Amino acid sequence: MKLSILGIYGPFPAPGGGCSSYLVEDRNTRILLDCGSGALQKCRAIHPELPLRLDAVVLSHMHADHAGEIDLFRYQCEFGLMQSPLKVFSPETDKLQAPVFDPVRTYDGLQVTIGSMTLRFAAMQHAVPTMGVHITDAEGRTLFYTGDTGWFDGLVDAVKGVDLLLADACLRYESNEKALKNHMTVAQVLSLREQADCDGVILTHLFPDGKPYPQIIDRKAVYAREGMQFMSTRK
Ligand SMILES: [Zn+2]
Ligand SMILES: [Zn+2]
Repeated sequence: MKLSILGIYGPFPAPGGGCSSYLVEDRNTRILLDCGSGALQKCRAIHPELPLRLDAVVLSHMHADHAGEIDLFRYQCEFGLMQSPLKVFSPETDKLQAPVFDPVRTYDGLQVTIGSMTLRFAAMQHAVPTMGVHITDAEGRTLFYTGDTGWFDGLVDAVKGVDLLLADACLRYESNEKALKNHMTVAQVLSLREQADCDGVILTHLFPDGKPYPQIIDRKAVYAREGMQFMSTRK
């Protein structure tokens, strides 16, 4: 599977950057993970028809930095002669009621197949209902996307052994209790990769104040950058 990083910032975009949004492709299947600011524009830059060729959009949760552009996708679908409703997965589907959408409410343990990929959802710890997603491609390669989450018992089990972990590392360093309930620190994400024996981790959902993040020495870890692409390879 191929992962393209479209937007990496939260809870608001940096100048010229976008909020959480990632494209996952395997064979002829294309899934958009989260739909923060800039997502539509960046999809169209990859391929002008891409929003109409998506097989599904997965929204980890309904915070604006993850779902803020879903209405623009709705307009694009309405005016773009979409042949069939676009599947949109989310733990909350109230705001997804539109003829061009086929909303699917996600919950812990839900497993679905979209084209060549199998998705399994896992509840995360965040201020609103949030589902991380474990994706397996046709070759058995795996990716886990956390959306937004603080560290909680069970997180290591949820991401155990995946080839590629895409994780919320919003907090540079130790922070207050409230922030730690909703997001992880860089050190927690690095520890998660190690404890869960993931082959690699991309740290994302970066805070857009321009201050530097701590340097990483783990060669299996990298900060997300917009425009990056990753091929998930088997261990
Ligand atoms: Zn967020
Ligand atoms: Zn959030």
